[in-house]
Amino acid sequence: MVSTKYFCQNCKKELAENQKPCPYCGSAKIDIKVEIKEEIKIRESFRVRQKRKGFKKFMVECLQGWFPSGDKKQFPEGIQQTRIIDKKNNRYKKKIINEVTGEVVVNKDEKLSEHK
Ligand SMILES: [Zn+2]
Repeated sequence: MVSTKYFCQNCKKELAENQKPCPYCGSAKIDIKVEIKEEIKIRESFRVRQKRKGFKKFMVECLQGWFPSGDKKQFPEGIQQTRIIDKKNNRYKKKIINEVTGEVVVNKDEKLSEHK
């Protein structure tokens, strides 16, 4: 996305395009500022596991980031997912956000023992 802004060099007020001279101070010197805004989508995810000494299985697992969705029709751009499996506190949390609309699709917070 590119946006062009015009400013008076003298009084620094923002002007409309081709507005010369400056209606505020009469100066004909105009600064043109071009801004390029790049929208960067970060499609990364990470998984962190907390383990206890002597146990092979993890105690807490945290997963977060962008994931491709199995439902390509509903989520062609994938989803943003946060999932926490907390065996220590018997907690299961899952939050899925539609990558395109930002809408929360799933928001679960339940006991891990009750999670199917
Ligand atoms: Zn001015």
